[in-house]
Parts: sequence; structure tokens; C-alpha cells
Amino acid sequence: MPNNLGTPERPLRVAIIGSGPSGFYAADSLYKSDLTISVSMFERLPTPYGLVRFGVAPDHSKIKNVIKVYEKTAAHDQFFYYGNVEIGVDLTVHQLRKYFDALVFANGAETDRKLGIHGSELKGNHTATEFVAWYNGHPDFQENVFDLSCETAVIIGQGNVALDVARILTKTIDELKETDITQNALDVLSKSKVKTVHVVGRRGPAQAAFTPVELREFGELANCDPIVRKEDMELSYPSQIELEDPKNAPKKKNCSILEDFAQREEPKKNKRFVLHFKKSPAAIYGIDDENKVGKIYLEKNVLVGEPNHQKSKGTGEKEELKCGIIFRSIGYRGVPITGLPFQEQAGIIPNTEGRVSDSEQIYPGLYTVGWIKRGPSGIIGTNKPDSEETIKHLLDDLKELNPCKNPDNKMLEELLKENNVRYVNFEEWKKIDDEEIKRGQPKGKPREKFVHVKDMLDFLD
Ligand code: NAP
Repeated sequence: MPNNLGTPERPLRVAIIGSGPSGFYAADSLYKSDLTISVSMFERLPTPYGLVRFGVAPDHSKIKNVIKVYEKTAAHDQFFYYGNVEIGVDLTVHQLRKYFDALVFANGAETDRKLGIHGSELKGNHTATEFVAWYNGHPDFQENVFDLSCETAVIIGQGNVALDVARILTKTIDELKETDITQNALDVLSKSKVKTVHVVGRRGPAQAAFTPVELREFGELANCDPIVRKEDMELSYPSQIELEDPKNAPKKKNCSILEDFAQREEPKKNKRFVLHFKKSPAAIYGIDDENKVGKIYLEKNVLVGEPNHQKSKGTGEKEELKCGIIFRSIGYRGVPITGLPFQEQAGIIPNTEGRVSDSEQIYPGLYTVGWIKRGPSGIIGTNKPDSEETIKHLLDDLKELNPCKNPDNKMLEELLKENNVRYVNFEEWKKIDDEEIKRGQPKGKPREKFVHVKDMLDFLD
């Protein structure tokens, strides 16, 4: 007998795991259908919005205005938020299925890709994701220590995250103090001795992953000059062909900005943002056998392959770069959730257009959106069509969904209480939000974030 899910008598019950952009776009997409739908969103931390809160750079505050869109979604009368609930730990996937007809995994990419080169274990070798999470107040990273007492930092990778890290290291405190960066990060940065930040890409200027708006900012910093070698801007024929392809228009813009940087006069400001192209990290060493980063060897590369498919190939020639701190910024990576399939190599939940499926089976009632669906690529807006695709399939599957046994949030909340899980609802999050804004006001900051879960819960209780 066909089910009556999505009717006023029996609303479709969807759990979304993760409260970043892809999760909110999935909720919004569900509410846009003509069906009656109840959405419960689960988040490991008390605070919502994922990388909008913990990834977007503090000095890019306009990007965070997207939160207003998510707040509208959260205002729906059939929206329920459960912050401070970790799926796989506080509630298993199996348990969730008893309360919801469909589960949508929007849990993003929580860790980072590895380089696996000699010296990776040395002190002072960090991931960009940790540094970003630290200065953005992510509770898991507040005990991390970044020693900025050296003059030279190296960032491996040339994506927008690498540029975010480089900007935070090269901006003046005046340029940062009225952002929502944490007070602790501001204090550490105000004592920073870092003067030169090298940003190393394994391919050429025409292939760099960063985008023009983010790159252009380095030409306008108060106390930092951008440095690009003129020779690096002599592009090979395949790279020139790539730039003529209309789909590579942003890369062409990158190159014209880089050209401008390369033509600039001698740097005069105190700090330097130095771009290196066609070099891969080969090994990291400590100085005098100390257990701390002292230098990195970079291997020079050539590009091989057809236009738009050019890869880097090592030449064997190496150069040494002295440095006191290294940030690896080569992409985020998803982590598995117990009870769900995981594609190890790509770091994603295997799926077909958002329906969780592997080579052996489709998992009915399980869906995925965002970075854990497609890998860590694209800007916030990329998640909207991505989530819409998944939700369309979920709604197409409506008649085949297996109605859950306990279609009742009260029962779910009782279970959470029995398990001593102190969940945070959306009204409570709004109290935290208001308090953060209030704490930021005397400093001229948009907010001063709570950086420990305990402090948030103590404040609420
Ligand atoms: P990304 O854009 O994928 O860049 C990763 C970088 O790491 C690339 O330069 C890549 O080089 C390099 N890389 C990968 N593996 C490497 C290896 N084994 N050795 C050396 N280099 C390696 O990643 P991301 O910077 O983490 O950004 C993730 C996504 O978030 C992107 O879509 C980005 O645009 C977005 N984002 C946007 C903003 C913004 O809009 N302001 C800010 C932050 C992040 P290859 O190109 O050669 O692979």
C-alpha cells in the first residue's frame, strides 16, 4: 500500500545531519515543495552554519550575510534544530532511522588531505584547516599553538584557503581588529614576527586554484607587497591555449593580476606575500636536528599533458627555503560516519546524484549533499543546486520510502535526555548569538565568539 508521507496527517520527516550551507539549502529545498514536511537538523556543535562560521575568513564579513537566508529557513514552523548532538556518537544512524523517514547527510569535510613527505611530524608543520578553525573560534582547535616567532612562513597549495591564511598572516592588526576573529588569535597575531609568507603551487599561474577577487586583495594590503617573478609569467603554449577557453575566464583574470604584481616596483612595505609556481614540497627538515621546522625542500616541476589536463611532474631539481612555520593547504577531506558507507580515496559518502549508493546497493532513505557528497570544491552558492539535486531525488522516491516507526520529535527528545545529551535548540542558539554580538560591541567587532562548548552551555543554563 502506498504510504501517506508528506500529507498534513503524516508529514514527511527528514533529518539533516550538519548545519552548514548545504544542510540549510537542503531544508529550504524541502520546504519549497507542496508537501507537508518536518525537518530536524542535527549539529555536532551547539552553533549552526558550519564553514560560514568556522571557515569563511573573519575579514570577509559580507560573505557571512548569507546567514540571514538560513535564518529564514530556520523560522519555518516545522524546523527543529538539535545542536550539540553528534550523529554516530550521541545517536546512531540506526536510531535516527526510527524517528525519520529520510536522512540527509550534510556533514561536510572535517579533516584535511595528507602530504606524506619526510619531516611532516616536525613541530611547526600545521594544516591550514587547523589554523583557520583556530582563528575562527572552533572549539576543537582552541588548544592548538601556532608559534609565529619566526620571520618566514610557507603555505603549500594555492587555493582560496591558502590565500585566507596568507592574508591573516600579512594583514596589520588594525586591518583585523574589527572583524569577528577571536581575541586570542588577535593577541597571538599582534606578537607575530612573520614578515614573509611564501605560497607554493605545484602547477603554473594559469592553473592556480585561487580566484581573482581573493588574489587582487594582496595588491591592496596596508603593510604587505605581493611578489611574483616575471619569468613565472612566461606561459607555455598549452597554458596560453587554456586561458583562451571561456570556461577559464577566472584563471585568465588571475594571470592579468599576477602580471600586474610581477611588473610592480621594488617592494617597500614591511611584509611580503611571495608566490611560487611549479614547485612541490619534497621534504621538511629541522634546523640542527631540532624537532622543529627549519627548512623545506621544494622540487621544481614541469607541466605535462594536454591543455586543461596539465599535471605537474618533478624534475629532480630542488631548492631550499628556510622557514619557521609551514601550513599545508591542499584541500579538506570528509570523515566516515559509523553505519554509513564511505569512499576512502575521495573522502566522500558514495552516492549517485545524492542518493547514497555503492557498487553493491542503493541505501533507501539515505541521501547526501555538499562536500561529503561531491568533495571539497566550490563556493557557498555551489551548494544550492547541489542540495536541490539531492532533494529532487528524495521527493521522487517519496512513495518508496519506508515510514519510520516513531514519527515524533518528543520521543526523540526524551531519548536524548535519557542519554544525557544536552541538545541546544534554535532559540537557545539565538541567545548565544545575541550574547556574542553584545560582547563584540565594545570592541567594534561584529561579535566576540564563545570558543568553548562548556562556556556556551554554562551561559544557557
Ligand atoms: P582547493 O581550491 O582545491 O586548492 C587546493 C590546492 O592544493 C591547489 O593549489 C592544489 O593544486 C593543491 N594541492 C592539492 N594536492 C596537492 C599536493 N599533493 N601537493 C601540492 N599541492 C597540492 O582547496 P581549498 O583552498 O582548500 O578550498 C576549498 C574550496 O573552498 C574551494 O572551492 C575554494 O574556492 C573554496 N573557498 C572559497 C573561498 C572564497 O570564496 N573566498 C575561501 C576559502 C575557500 P592543484 O590545482 O595542482 O591540484
